[in-house]
Amino acid sequence: MKYIFVTGGVVSSLGKGLAAASLGTLLEHRGYRVLIQKFDPYLNVDPGTMSPFQHGEVYVLDDGAETDLDLGHYERFTSGRLSKLNNLTSGQVYETVIQNERAGKYLGSTVQVIPHVTDVIKERIHEVSEKMKPDILITEIGGTTGDIEGLPFLEGLRQFKDEVGHENVAFIHATLIPYIKAAEELKTKPTQQSVAKLREIGIAPDVLVCRSEYPIDDDIKHKLAMFCNVQKEAVIPFVDVNGTIYEAPLKLYEEGLDRIVCERLGLKSEKPDLVAWRNMVDRIVNPTHRVRIAVVGKYIELQDAYKSIYEALTHAGAANDTKVRVDRIDSSDIEKEGAAEFLQKANGILIPGGFGERGIEGKVLAAEYARENGIPFFGICLGMQIATIEFARNVCHLEGAHSQEFQDDTPHPVIHLLEDQKSVTKKGGSMRLGLWDTKLRPGSKVRELYGKDNISERHRHRYEFNQDYREQFEKAGLVLAGTSLEGDLGEIVEIPNHPFFIAVQFHPEFLSKPTAPHPLFRGFVEAALKYRKKEV
Ligand code: GLN
Repeated sequence: MKYIFVTGGVVSSLGKGLAAASLGTLLEHRGYRVLIQKFDPYLNVDPGTMSPFQHGEVYVLDDGAETDLDLGHYERFTSGRLSKLNNLTSGQVYETVIQNERAGKYLGSTVQVIPHVTDVIKERIHEVSEKMKPDILITEIGGTTGDIEGLPFLEGLRQFKDEVGHENVAFIHATLIPYIKAAEELKTKPTQQSVAKLREIGIAPDVLVCRSEYPIDDDIKHKLAMFCNVQKEAVIPFVDVNGTIYEAPLKLYEEGLDRIVCERLGLKSEKPDLVAWRNMVDRIVNPTHRVRIAVVGKYIELQDAYKSIYEALTHAGAANDTKVRVDRIDSSDIEKEGAAEFLQKANGILIPGGFGERGIEGKVLAAEYARENGIPFFGICLGMQIATIEFARNVCHLEGAHSQEFQDDTPHPVIHLLEDQKSVTKKGGSMRLGLWDTKLRPGSKVRELYGKDNISERHRHRYEFNQDYREQFEKAGLVLAGTSLEGDLGEIVEIPNHPFFIAVQFHPEFLSKPTAPHPLFRGFVEAALKYRKKEV
């Protein structure tokens, strides 16, 4: 087994996760079974309790783990399905160490960062290797070299390399080569210093992935190679991609990243066959049609808050030979100025998941606008709950209908707390999480789109559709098109008498891949395209 560790230097947000994911794509296309995972040095046990402002989207896995959004990239760029083992945080590490100490596992010793904390880090790598058995395990280390909280991880990896053999481990350092306008030059010094920091800890990177806004010429490569003690051809430029992030593996392939890594690890394989990947990128970059989708949310100013939804729309666009332009709309603005002001140009309206009261009424107005004007509508998680509330109030005339999440004493709790959430007081990892089965109603739009009777999707919620109102809704034209296998939980609502009005309690965006777009997103974009053609 081979291990690749990806660290980052100089600044955050330089595309370290994207580089790790892209290397995964290339190695998978060379025929290896690749898994990519993330170690995060922060002290939360998982990102599930953080606000999207802190951390962007919380990405949910099959087993219900609430993880870093980079795991979404990893799953989209490779075929691997990840598990809770694949996102280790300092919070988990310290939790384990302290539990061990209380259980008497270290009886007699002083418990210390080295070796006890570093042991837990190394054990996790071994556990993943043994249980998930990849050929190659790529691990991205969150944060930036020099961060105090990242040190135990780097020390753990240094020890790990010595234990499993230098020939089985490669270190990749992703770094920034800034352009200084006044000097009209790309600068290598920050990278030199960041590599020096790594070497202080005992890690010498084998490959530098150099993010830059401008091409990196031979002189700069030479300089970086010399000062950072890597081979010149292991200095890999990672120049900004302008079309789509899915171009990144192709760019890094041209720069020889996978070849260098394979040489370093003694892996002999044919060049990757990237034809299908390249075709997919082409469909994203040069589509024939265009649609505008309004995403009406609460954390809309943040690029990363609805990451997987934006990606799933891109995948669905490619499948429809269509460029999806996303208009990000803050639902609080709709509350102030009305839905038409922001939604009249939309060919489709999507309401994503969310928590908390702010902006809820604006989302209700958006759902009403979509329903009344026959604009394709797609509700996800909170979006389904909103669609239900809107229908209850405006079509069924259930005055004051609401979700108990926002109004405990509503006269019509059309969305109420899940039965088994009633006793839950703990905050982390305590929602209804992960893969659950749903059976689809014969003859429904969703049954047609999925092309099968039963599906399995990822969930993350505490509240649910209140089936006491089901009959009333169905008579008025909103049908329950999907339920849990036992029928007790409402999973999907749709309005058959509307061009496309589907809302789901789960998160389909987590299972969409660029090479395999999700059927509901694909159907939604197709409907938006039809709507646009009719409009024009
Ligand atoms: N806040 C809602 C619930 O807990 C919706 C959750 C979500 O959109 N992920 O049920």
